[in-house]
Amino acid sequence: MTFRKLSSTAQWRTECCVLGNGLFGAAIAFELATRGVDCCVVGASYGERQYYYASHHDQSRLVRGWHTDARWRSLVQQSLSKLRQLASWSEVPFFSEVPVLYGLDAAIAPRSSADLLPSTLSVAGLLYQDRVGGVLNPLRYIGAMNTFATRRTARIIRKAAHRVERMGGGYRITAGEHEIFASYIFDARGLYGRVAKSDDVITIGKITINIAGGEHATPFGFVDFREEAGPFVNAYGCCAYAFQGNLPMTKYGFTEREPVKLPNIEAVNAWFAGDYARYPYLIAAQRWIERFHRGSRAHVSIKPCAFTLTRNGYPIIRSEGHWLYVGGCNGMGAQSCQALAEQTVSVWQETVRGKHVTRSSSARQ
Ligand SMILES: Cc1cc2nc3c(=O)[nH]c(=O)nc-3n(C[C@H](O)[C@H](O)[C@H](O)COP(=O)(O)OP(=O)(O)OC[C@H]3O[C@@H](n4cnc5c(N)ncnc54)[C@H](O)[C@@H]3O)c2cc1C
Repeated sequence: MTFRKLSSTAQWRTECCVLGNGLFGAAIAFELATRGVDCCVVGASYGERQYYYASHHDQSRLVRGWHTDARWRSLVQQSLSKLRQLASWSEVPFFSEVPVLYGLDAAIAPRSSADLLPSTLSVAGLLYQDRVGGVLNPLRYIGAMNTFATRRTARIIRKAAHRVERMGGGYRITAGEHEIFASYIFDARGLYGRVAKSDDVITIGKITINIAGGEHATPFGFVDFREEAGPFVNAYGCCAYAFQGNLPMTKYGFTEREPVKLPNIEAVNAWFAGDYARYPYLIAAQRWIERFHRGSRAHVSIKPCAFTLTRNGYPIIRSEGHWLYVGGCNGMGAQSCQALAEQTVSVWQETVRGKHVTRSSSARQ
C-alpha cells in the first residue's frame, strides 16, 4: 500500500500507524521504512495538554555491552550495530562512544568476562570498563531515526492521537485536525500504551539529578553496584555528557530496591506535575552524590521521569489481531530499541500481516 493523502487536506491513508514517537515508536518507523513499508507516526509532544509525558525526555542515556543477563547482552549488541550505522549516516551527533565504568563488589566482579576490562580512567571505586558502550542523546537519536524514516516511507504527525476506532478491517486515528486510516497499529505509547496497562507490568516513578560543575570533566558513563545497604541496587550516571558554557553537566540516577509505583495514568501525570518532589529516597540519593561528585556545583536540578517494568524483566512484543504493542523497557529501552523494533516488525511481517493471527510473545532471544 502506498501512503497517500485523501481528498480532504488532513486525511491520510497508510498501511501502518505507529502511536508514539518515543524511542520504540521512532525505531519501529525506522525499521518499517528500511523495509519499504509506508507508515505514519503519530507522536505527542512532551507535556502536550499537560497530559502526555515520556520516558525518554532527557539528554543522556547509557549504552553498555556488559550485562549479567545474556538476553539483554544480545539485544544491546544487536541494537548497537544498528545505532552505529545510523550514527555514521546521520549528520546529527547523537552518540558518543565514551568509557562506561563499573563499580562491582567481589561477588559480581567476573574476573574472566571478555566484556570487562580494567578501567582506563581513574575514578574512585570504578575499576572496570566496558569493552563497548557510550552515551546517547535520546532526543537527537529519535530525531535521527525520524529523519531516516521520513526520507523513505514515513510521515510524522506531531500530535497526540486522542481517538482510535476500529473501522472496516482497519482503524481510524484522530490526532488534532488529522484523520488517519490504517490497516495496522503499532502501539508504542510507553507509559500510556497497552503494555503499561498489562497485568504483568508496573510503572515506576523516578527522578534524575543534574548538576553543572564538578571536576569530572572527561565524558564517561558509569554504573556503581557497590551499595551494600540502603535503598538502591545501583547508582548510575553520565559525567560531562554536555557542557554548559565551560561547566561539565553530570546526570545521576538510581535503581531503587523498592521503586515508587504509579498505579494509573492519573498517578503518572501527578508524578510529572509535582509529586516527584516527594521522591522518598532523595536524601539517600543526595548523600550518594555528595560522596561521588567532586568539585563545586553551579546548578542542581531535579527532573521527574518514569518507566515501565515487566514481571519477568524482559520487554514485551505482543499482537492482538491487527494491533501490535511493544514496550516494558525495564530501564534499558534506549540501548535496545532498534533490536526490539526489528523483532516487532518481523513478528508483524511473519505472523500478522494479511493473516489475522493472534500471537503473544516475550522478546525473542
Ligand atoms: C531515569 C531513566 C533513566 C534511563 N536510563 C536508561 C539508560 O541509561 N539506558 C537505556 O537504554 N535506557 C534507559 N532508560 C529507559 C529509556 O529511556 C526507555 O526505555 C525508553 O524511553 C522507553 O521508550 P518508549 O518508546 O517505550 O516510551 P517513551 O520514550 O515514553 O515514548 C512514548 C511516547 O508516546 C507518546 N504518547 C503517549 N500517548 C500518546 C498518544 N495517545 N498519541 C501520541 N503519542 C502518545 C508519549 O508522549 C511519548 O513521547 C531510562 C529511563 C529513565 C526514566
